Amino acid sequence: MTRLADHKTEAILLRCVDIGETDRIVHLFTPDLGRVTAMAKSARKSVKRFPGTLDLMNHLQVDLQIRPQRMTYIGRGKLISPFLELRAVPSRFALGCYLVELLGRLAPEGGAGGDSRRLFDFTLGAMHSIENLDPGPKLRMFLMLESLCALGLRPELRHCVRCGTELAGGDAFAFHFGEGGAHCGGCKREDGSSVPIHLGTLRLLEQGLHFGIDKLDRLQIPTREMREAEQLVGRFHRFHVGLELRSEAFLAEAFATHARGGANPA
Ligand SMILES: [Zn+2]
Repeated sequence: MTRLADHKTEAILLRCVDIGETDRIVHLFTPDLGRVTAMAKSARKSVKRFPGTLDLMNHLQVDLQIRPQRMTYIGRGKLISPFLELRAVPSRFALGCYLVELLGRLAPEGGAGGDSRRLFDFTLGAMHSIENLDPGPKLRMFLMLESLCALGLRPELRHCVRCGTELAGGDAFAFHFGEGGAHCGGCKREDGSSVPIHLGTLRLLEQGLHFGIDKLDRLQIPTREMREAEQLVGRFHRFHVGLELRSEAFLAEAFATHARGGANPA
């Protein structure tokens, strides 16, 4: 049996399932191997090897024992950050759950090029933003959009995806989900796979992506543009993710409660 040396890596815990009396299967996202499924033997009784580490959303240092064609095992895990602020408020926690579930669904296995590293760095940055920013609809919308961008699904917001013209002027535009971008007035079709969109909304989405999640507080979005943008991002997300994520219902409930509490919505 070929046995490779332990592989030390950082990881974010995306999901875990308890097996038998003491074991735990964990789904990790790592910067060098992408998504990894591993068995943590005796995880629930070994305080020495896993001192409070193997919980959802934790940022960890792990030793992986990787053998070809065999189950991967975790030798030990060390906690880097539990993102405590993210766990203290339901709407922040719901955003974190959404992010790790999305990665569990769409993040690639294997660490091709620098893609996994970039996605890992994006994820850590997003977790810190969820801890620190107002957990309102603006953060939720840009978290969805930026996560899809980080997964390689960036929508075209500046040019028509059909003819390449830069969108400008007061024309009525549309966003086509299958083609992943905006249509100019001449190219748009009324076929149910696109939605009408104003240029101002496209510009605000582009500006938000340019700022990045951590600087979203610089961006003011009027009510009409916010409504359009939420519809666009929601359908774009559904188009690429397919079935509803389990965290989405929790996210909707946490945000409804947050709004009823009178907190600033955007
Ligand atoms: Zn066009």
